[in-house]
Amino acid sequence: MSTTETDAPLTPAAAELRAVLERIMDAHHAKWGDSDEWDALTDFQRAIGAAGWGAPAWPEAIGGKGLGVIDQLACDAEFARVNAPRRVAVFGVNNVGPTMHAVGTPEQQRHLAAIINGDEFWCQGFSEPDAGSDLGGLRCKADVTDDGFVVNGQKVWTSIGLNATHCMLLARTDPDAPKHKGISALLVPMDTPGLTRRAIKQINGEAEFAELFFDNAFVPRTALLGPLHDGWRVTMATLGFERAGVLSVAGTLVGQVKEMMHSQRLADAPPTLRQKALGTYSQARILEWMGQRALAETTDGPGAVSSLIKLFWSHLAAEYAEVNADVVGIDLIAGLAPDATNQLLTSRSATIAGGTTEVMKNLIGERNLGLPREPR
Ligand SMILES: Cc1cc2nc3c(=O)[nH]c(=O)nc-3n(C[C@H](O)[C@H](O)[C@H](O)COP(=O)(O)OP(=O)(O)OC[C@H]3O[C@@H](n4cnc5c(N)ncnc54)[C@H](O)[C@@H]3O)c2cc1C
Repeated sequence: MSTTETDAPLTPAAAELRAVLERIMDAHHAKWGDSDEWDALTDFQRAIGAAGWGAPAWPEAIGGKGLGVIDQLACDAEFARVNAPRRVAVFGVNNVGPTMHAVGTPEQQRHLAAIINGDEFWCQGFSEPDAGSDLGGLRCKADVTDDGFVVNGQKVWTSIGLNATHCMLLARTDPDAPKHKGISALLVPMDTPGLTRRAIKQINGEAEFAELFFDNAFVPRTALLGPLHDGWRVTMATLGFERAGVLSVAGTLVGQVKEMMHSQRLADAPPTLRQKALGTYSQARILEWMGQRALAETTDGPGAVSSLIKLFWSHLAAEYAEVNADVVGIDLIAGLAPDATNQLLTSRSATIAGGTTEVMKNLIGERNLGLPREPR
C-alpha cells in the first residue's frame, strides 16, 4: 500500500470507501498482481461496482451515493492512496452517463446500471483528424433515414476505443446548417456492423487510443441522444460534467508530488535536485489552494476557474514527471521504474487532452479576463 500523503479530509464517505478498498485491493492483488491488462482493470471496475462504489458522484436514485465535490475528492485520494488500478469506466461514469441521465430517454437510461456495474465501457467519439480544438468542424456524417442513421466517417484519439463496448458519437446530421447547429449525438454499440477500430500505438508502447472508421454503419433512431441536430448542446453538457474531474486529477498530482518529497531517493539526491523538487512542491501547493478556492466559490465544481487550473496542472504534471525521473535516476534508465517512465512519456499529453494549452489560454482571456472572443 502506498503512503501517499494528501490533505484531503477523511470524510465519512471516504472512511467507508477506505474499508471497502482494503478488502477489494487484497482480493484484486491476489488475482491480478499489478497487471494493468484490460481484463484486470475491468474486473476491478466490477468489484467496486458490486460494492456500491462504481459511480459515487451519481445521485442515489440511479445507483450512486450522491457525493458532493469535497467527498469525491476525498474518495479519489483514497483510490490514489492504495494505488488502485486505473478506473476504465471513467468516460461512462464521469461524462456519458451523466449526459444520458440529463437528456436520455428512459430506454437509454437503462445503460446507467450497466455502466455502474462495469458491464458496459463507454468511449467518446468526438475528435477527428481535422476537428479537435475546432470540434464544431467535425465531418463524420450520419444520414437520417426513416428508421435511423447511416454513419460514414472517421474518429481519432478515442480513449479506450479499442476495448470499449459503446461509444457516444458526434456526427453531422444536417450538412446545410451552420457548423454548430447540424450535429447530433448518437449512442453506438462498438460491435455495430460497418464500424472498425484501429489501435494507435504510443511512445510508451501501449495503445490507449483507437481510430474509429464508420462505413455505412447503421444505428436505429433510438440511438439519438437529445434532440436531432442539437448535439452541440448535448456535447457542451458532456464537457461540462468534466469540470469536477479537473480538480480530481489535480488532487492526484498533488499527492504524487508530496510522495516524491517524502521519498528516501530525494533525501539522498544532490542539493540542486532537491531545490528543483522543492520548486515543484511549491507549485503543487499553489495548485491545491487554487482547487480549494475554486471549491469555496462554487458547490458544484470549479466553473470558469477550471481553465486556469487545467493550464496550471498540465504544465506542473510535465515538470513533476521530469523532476521525478531525475530523482528515480538510474532505475528509470534500467527499466526498473515503470510508473516514473510512463509518467515521463505521457505527461505532455495533459497539455492536449480536454482542451489544449492554447485553447485554455483563449478561454481564460474570454471568461476570466473578459477580453473579446477570438474571431471564428
Ligand atoms: C490523453 C488524451 C486523451 C484523449 N481522449 C479523447 C477521447 O476519448 N475522445 C476524443 O474524441 N478525443 C480525445 N482526445 C483528443 C483531444 O480532444 C484533441 O487532441 C484535442 O482537442 C486537440 O485537437 P487536435 O489534436 O486535433 O489538435 P488541433 O486542434 O489541430 O491543435 C493543433 C495545435 O493548434 C493549436 N490551436 C488549435 N486551435 C487554436 C486556437 N483557436 N487558438 C490557438 N491555438 C490553437 C492547439 O493548441 C495545438 O497546439 C484525447 C487527447 C489526448 C491527448
